[in-house]
Amino acid sequence: MEEETIMASLATLTLPQLSDLTNSVFSQTHHHHLRLSALLSSPTLFSLTLHRLHFLSLPHKTLLIARHLLSSLRHLTFHFQPSTTTLAFSRSTAINCRDLDAVLLLLFLCEVRQHNPEALQTPPSKWREVLGQLYAENMMRVSGIGVYNGTALVPFIEMVTRCLRFVDLMGGCGGGGKGGKEVPASVTAVVALPSVEVSGDGVIECAVCKEEMKKGRDVCELPCQHLFHWMCILPWLRKKNTCPCCRFQLPTDDVFGEIQRLWEVLVKIGGKSL
Ligand SMILES: [Zn+2]
Ligand SMILES: [Zn+2]
Repeated sequence: MEEETIMASLATLTLPQLSDLTNSVFSQTHHHHLRLSALLSSPTLFSLTLHRLHFLSLPHKTLLIARHLLSSLRHLTFHFQPSTTTLAFSRSTAINCRDLDAVLLLLFLCEVRQHNPEALQTPPSKWREVLGQLYAENMMRVSGIGVYNGTALVPFIEMVTRCLRFVDLMGGCGGGGKGGKEVPASVTAVVALPSVEVSGDGVIECAVCKEEMKKGRDVCELPCQHLFHWMCILPWLRKKNTCPCCRFQLPTDDVFGEIQRLWEVLVKIGGKSL
């Protein structure tokens, strides 16, 4: 299901866009490989990260995976709609190095548990060695020799799909991703909204207060091009991240809200290609 949606949205990209995407996914994946290799090569870093994972609660682990997923979805949607994705890169939804290490190790452990459960039956003091070996074997298979471009996308899409299912399963996205939860728009996104002068013929009404917007007056324009009085839309966006007219979604500072928003962007794009 999820994979089909991603593939359908990818099918709408032009060839240059697709190769841009592949390149950026490749460099992100490469960066992750480097971090995980470093982690598996350093006894100190490995035991610190494992220790940290051990004490993280399930909701916290879910949040880590959600952040990781969000950064991947940003990667993906950026190539469709640069404008709506780059608007807000707030700190609350970004992932730092320590968290990245933890989530990479967590995902790798899940993978090992699934495909080589016997590896984790060894005493934890041996884990680093055993995991390092498995990882090296994995790398040989995935990256192969001279395999570069197209193949980077497949594991990436698999990873996104797995994370999506997990986050959805944990109920992160407001009850099965049905969008029941109200989240405020991201402050960064709101600050970046343009002020435009009302012009043209005919009466334009502000959908919030139902009053006419006078010509020459500076009003707020949302990315969907709907106009509102600043004094009307600001309190609205402090509560919801949607346009009062068309429900266009602005970025939010809520990790799960963002995952849902970007996922809907992909679904919409994918739907057009079918
Ligand atoms: Zn108004
Ligand atoms: Zn609108």
